[in-house]
Amino acid sequence: PKTSLTLLGLGGMGAALARAWLGAGHPLTVWNRTARRTAPLAAEGATVAGTAAEAVAANSLVVTCLLDDASVREALDDADLTGRDLVNLTTSTPGQARALAQWTRERGGRFLDGGIMAIPPMIGVPDSGGYVFYSGSRSFFDDHQRTLAVPAGTRFVGSDVGFAALHDVALLSAMSGMSSGVAHAFALIHREEIAPKDFAPLLVDWLTAMAALVPLTAAQLESGDYTVGADSNLAMLVAGNATLLRTAEEQGVSAELMTPYMDLMARRLADGHGDESDTGVIDLLVR
Ligand code: NDP
Repeated sequence: PKTSLTLLGLGGMGAALARAWLGAGHPLTVWNRTARRTAPLAAEGATVAGTAAEAVAANSLVVTCLLDDASVREALDDADLTGRDLVNLTTSTPGQARALAQWTRERGGRFLDGGIMAIPPMIGVPDSGGYVFYSGSRSFFDDHQRTLAVPAGTRFVGSDVGFAALHDVALLSAMSGMSSGVAHAFALIHREEIAPKDFAPLLVDWLTAMAALVPLTAAQLESGDYTVGADSNLAMLVAGNATLLRTAEEQGVSAELMTPYMDLMARRLADGHGDESDTGVIDLLVR
């Protein structure tokens, strides 16, 4: 028999999770703050609880997928967590995850944190590439791994309960840099007779090729020698930044997305690291 479970939260992501578990034959109890969102899931076989506390009482395995940390606290405020296994799939900070774990323990429950690396259409679709980072108790994870693997792949990243959130947010932060670079690139061409749709595959190929350099950065961080394999040294890169900035000016494009990183590169160069790659910018950030 398939493990029965409770899911709190039927937003875009919660509803996708619910459908994956229902589709795989798991008995599912759902709750959502706004009741009308439960109707489609009820029609698909979910049991609807009137309150979050009732939903938590229905199953020992309880999954939350709510807007943010505050909404999880609010939803679970009057629920009895004694003997419950709580899996939080709400995007949160490492500190929030650690505090929620402590809060759950104090109320008699076990806690596992998760960070979803997927968008709703990837949920419940085998080989979609989507997965969830998990961290916290390894035995808790092992107990429920088969159920947790139904909506998306699972990657356990450590017994520090904050690590799932940290991995999640680190990847999202890298995406933020990529998105700003893409925005600037499209802005540069926008006034010209270059079709965005023709430019897009060039961007994809270039970003993919440059992403292959990430392991070199990791190797430099591990060795502490930022000159190893630095085919593009900082002195050359900073000189090149002037060309990037002047092009932005010629094209009538604000360079505000570009300058924060460029300023750090210039500071690192001024500190005498012109023969290294730009990895030393990381040292400036963590000090
Ligand atoms: P939605 O905005 O679609 O849904 C938010 C959910 O949180 C709703 O169920 C909403 O209830 C509920 N909620 C908000 N505030 C409260 C509160 N104070 N008390 C109780 N319930 C509350 O968000 P998603 O479903 O898309 O996202 C849920 C989580 O999943 C987030 O942490 C998000 O970061 C994460 N995630 C989402 C991804 C995505 O692409 N969508 C990708 C990866 C992670 P109500 O219906 O009553 O408003």
